Amino acid sequence: MKNTKSIFEMIVDREIDAKIVYEDDLVISIEDINPVAPYHFLIIPKEKISTLNDLNNSHKELLNRIFEVARNIAKEFNFDQKGYRTIFNCNEYGGQTVYHIHLHLISGRKLGWPPG
Ligand code: 5GP
Repeated sequence: MKNTKSIFEMIVDREIDAKIVYEDDLVISIEDINPVAPYHFLIIPKEKISTLNDLNNSHKELLNRIFEVARNIAKEFNFDQKGYRTIFNCNEYGGQTVYHIHLHLISGRKLGWPPG
């Protein structure tokens, strides 16, 4: 799995289309193709990191950037004050389906808790 290109790498390389809302040297942010709420963005490192278990101290700047971008998007789309949820799913029990880490940024309605 490590040597095959992930769907998100293909988006970064413009091999498949996505609605890109933000991009810089470290991350890209897109609209989720199958939104679970009125706002559903993914903030994705350009470097393929398969799961949260693969993160280490060398990723501090990257993680900081991911959450900075999430805050900025929340402000830009005006749901920072109403609120939102950020989620990293990890492996089978976490419901991860794409093995290239991504932060879900979800808002636009009141979200239920606990998750199913
Ligand atoms: P996970 O289940 O791994 O936490 O989240 C993967 C997310 O990626 C899902 O919410 C799914 O809808 C989204 N996704 C999968 N393939 C594509 C794609 O080709 N384009 C976009 N924009 N989102 C995708």
